[in-house]
Amino acid sequence: MLDYIRKLIHGPFIKVRSFRNSGEVYVCYLREARCTCPDWKKRRSAYSKTDPQRLCKHLASEYDRLENPPNGHNPEQEKQIALCRKYRVGYPLGWMYLETQDGLMDIRQSPSDPAWFNVYHDGDQYGFNHEECRWSYGNQPPSAKEIVQVLLGLPPTLAEDAVTTVSRKRLDKWKRDVVGECEGVTFSARVNGKAKWQRGVYDQAGFALHLGTGEFEIQPRLLHMEEALASWLRAEYQQIRDEAAAEKR
Ligand SMILES: [Zn+2]
Repeated sequence: MLDYIRKLIHGPFIKVRSFRNSGEVYVCYLREARCTCPDWKKRRSAYSKTDPQRLCKHLASEYDRLENPPNGHNPEQEKQIALCRKYRVGYPLGWMYLETQDGLMDIRQSPSDPAWFNVYHDGDQYGFNHEECRWSYGNQPPSAKEIVQVLLGLPPTLAEDAVTTVSRKRLDKWKRDVVGECEGVTFSARVNGKAKWQRGVYDQAGFALHLGTGEFEIQPRLLHMEEALASWLRAEYQQIRDEAAAEKR
């Protein structure tokens, strides 16, 4: 009876036994590409019906019977679906190829810890933690910044002159409070014409640039603004020094 009602509401479905634990039974709904297993509910339900990442190992193994299967959009994905069926595994999550100026990057989210992405390039493997925004052992692949921008979903790098100064307030001969605007976002910084470290604030979070070493302390979501902010802070610093020199004369 319950099966009859299910069929009425969701269309045809099949019951599959858990591949690991023979006691569990899951239900695959063939019309919606939906499964009742924990993997599907927790990690796959948010993907659209056309996305192969929606396929848990049960849906992948019943791929032929799905009414609207998430089609492979390219030969690589089709190959991947065939492998999933053969080995009874779910479609790899967070998997992509990224074309960079240093060549093709093969990026996969770690199945055991979704915070980590494995990046494969030229026979080398790198690990990136997108929650902590750091590379495993500090070991970065070529085009690291581009990869991070993609993994964090950031817009493209802004031009160096993207920050425009909207106001300056002189505190003393060597210090200014300056406010910069960048694509509708306002930053503020206290620029010190004598110190090497320059610090600013964006949305209550800080960033800092060392003018000597070029070292930047910046929160991940501002990474695409790094060049613009660095150039802006350098220009403000130089202006203070020029003004101080002019006063001397
Ligand atoms: Zn499943």
